[in-house]
Amino acid sequence: MTRASSPPTDPVTAPVQRAYDRYGRQADKWQAGYTARGGKVFCGAGCFQCCNMPIRVSLAEALITARAIEGAQAEAVEAHARAALQNARTAKDDAQYVQRHRQEVGFCPLLDRETGACTQYEARPTRCRDTFSAFPAHYCAEGTWEAMSNREKREYHREVARTPGTDGEWHFIAPLEHLSEPVWVAASKAMQAQWGLEVWGDFWLLTTLAADAGFMARVERGDARGAWQVASGRGLAHRELLQIE
Ligand code: SF4
Repeated sequence: MTRASSPPTDPVTAPVQRAYDRYGRQADKWQAGYTARGGKVFCGAGCFQCCNMPIRVSLAEALITARAIEGAQAEAVEAHARAALQNARTAKDDAQYVQRHRQEVGFCPLLDRETGACTQYEARPTRCRDTFSAFPAHYCAEGTWEAMSNREKREYHREVARTPGTDGEWHFIAPLEHLSEPVWVAASKAMQAQWGLEVWGDFWLLTTLAADAGFMARVERGDARGAWQVASGRGLAHRELLQIE
């Protein structure tokens, strides 16, 4: 059972949901043209190799996910947030943070590992919507890059440079990522208009805080310091994973 979805008039989440819908239509149209020109998109149902990446979101997006989950799934999201926090507190740099997130923090708890499906597909955040691969899933998997020889890495970069739709360096499809920029803008504007502040950070941490009435009460009255104190009191504050601006 899931919680009721947010009302369509919610002034913070409704603009984001409309932007999600617009993005979906534009991304479909772009992909149709891309494949008609011979391009290939390798992402599809059951593929989840990128679901162990760290994800940055706005609180507006996290509210949509938080309202879709409850019970054991909400607990699993909080446990994942705490594991991400522990990693952030001890990682020596960004590269180690990302690598340990993928290896040790592991796959998103909203993933159904049996089917490879996202259990909250309709409520997934922007980053999960706009990441598309122009190469087979093997290249998205944790450890593939690290296992490549220097010769294989040079060949990879040559192949990426030959593949239309990439940024010339990595195998993800750049225009489909750029098309989602209006979603980030919609979230930013909605948070500023309603709260007079913006909250950005780790997906699982913000999804946990979005379900905290005390945290949200302070956010809704523009009390950045009070919101930070609530997060801190729950052991969920970290300057890299929670930004209240
Ligand atoms: S929200 Fe869904 S698509 Fe995004 S990382 Fe989690 S399981 Fe994967």
